[in-house]
Amino acid sequence: MKEKILIYNTLKRKKEVFTPITKDYVGMYVCGPTVYGDPHLGHARPAITFDVVVRYLRHCKYTVRYVRNITDAGHLVNDADDGEDKITQKARLEQLEPMEVVQFYTLSYHRAMNLLNCEPPSIEPRATGHIIEQIEMVKKILSNGFAYEKNGSVYLDVNKYNESYPYGILSGRNIEDALEGTRSLDRQSEKNSPIDFAIWKKASEEHIMKWVSPWGEGFPGWHMECSAMGEKYLGKTFDIHGGGMDLIFPHHEAEIAQSHASNKCMPVNYWMHNNMITVDGKKMGKSLGNFMNLEDFFSGNHEKLSKAYSPMTIRFFILQAHYRSTLDFGNDALQAAEKGMNKLMEAISTLDKLEVSEISSFESSKLEKKCYSAMNDDFNTPILIAHLFEGVKVINSVKDGNASLNSVDLAKMKSIFQNFAVKILGLEILKDNNNNLTNEVMDLILHLRKNAKTNKDFNTADIIRNELEKKGIEIKDNRDGSSWSLKK
Ligand code: ZN
Repeated sequence: MKEKILIYNTLKRKKEVFTPITKDYVGMYVCGPTVYGDPHLGHARPAITFDVVVRYLRHCKYTVRYVRNITDAGHLVNDADDGEDKITQKARLEQLEPMEVVQFYTLSYHRAMNLLNCEPPSIEPRATGHIIEQIEMVKKILSNGFAYEKNGSVYLDVNKYNESYPYGILSGRNIEDALEGTRSLDRQSEKNSPIDFAIWKKASEEHIMKWVSPWGEGFPGWHMECSAMGEKYLGKTFDIHGGGMDLIFPHHEAEIAQSHASNKCMPVNYWMHNNMITVDGKKMGKSLGNFMNLEDFFSGNHEKLSKAYSPMTIRFFILQAHYRSTLDFGNDALQAAEKGMNKLMEAISTLDKLEVSEISSFESSKLEKKCYSAMNDDFNTPILIAHLFEGVKVINSVKDGNASLNSVDLAKMKSIFQNFAVKILGLEILKDNNNNLTNEVMDLILHLRKNAKTNKDFNTADIIRNELEKKGIEIKDNRDGSSWSLKK
């Protein structure tokens, strides 16, 4: 029998029992990155959130087709209908081919996701590989009468659309609200209404990434790719669409409108959105100086970080909060997460060494039920982690001789940790072993250097620092001792 899983559906603003369209199969689409910069903290949360959703659904014996796109064209700098393409801008600044930019940052995104132990999607389609599908969809929207062409661009007619389908059902914004937001910002005079949005844009002379279309040379509007690729790989209506809350408007609202206007049906049954990440209580932003790339965490090379944090610590930290809550990054919270995760990992290795008793002082099956209940309640990972720590306590008590587990309860305890900590939360001790070893060796070296300094052997202390420097490791001396980080 399948688990009864509750999912908070942004569209309905409540939790609903998950019922897929096709028995045992789940079609799921998650908006992926626009690949024009290093993978950062903002990329980690949706990737880890939906990785756990996929892992849990697969654990519950669903076959999941997980589609996560790569945006490599059409996403303009100001997230609206005007301005330069984000990829093109980066290519121009760095004097590269746009596809060189795309390749470079797609590879670094993949590397970071692999370190964070996020399983790759089943299909990873790119916008530029699906221009034909996007043009076909624009043609259909035009022939259904929900769009109009102006000077080589095609706009979705939001007012016309709203006569047949309610506009704003996902974000809760009505036409008046949406107008309020655009009136002062919009300088585009060719649209019939400022809330209309481009589904195809005419390319200017200097625009590099452009394609031939029935309306002249141009490129698809940013929202088109997800509608076209979602339909291509998952069908006109599929089960789950995920992404960050910042995508609800305009991106996902536009996807709903495009799919209705083209296919006359709702594209998605369950809309899931993860909340945002803040750094020291503030929204992360390049201008605020608190913008952090994932590599900064792994190397410890950022003025806001007192040390390096392993990818598994970042993963554990993110999962300690429910995906719909905000999450604040700071050194203290990260260090607490690191301690917690080490404790959990230690308990898992202790588990293999525990001795079986005749009698049990703990019923592991009850703990297992609680773990399932947590995950069935809208993927509540912080509650699941709290239950796992209940298990950690039992494991440590058995080790100390203050509790006992019989063969059935010990085997169950092992399967709980294997399934929930390793397979579902994706916390893999092996992934971090190299990092842990490096940390231990570096602690030893710093300790020896400290001893040398205490003995006034400054020559040795300097040799250690200089030799490490040659290997790309920087030692910083401060009042509390020394710390190390990898040089950029
Ligand atoms: Zn998208």
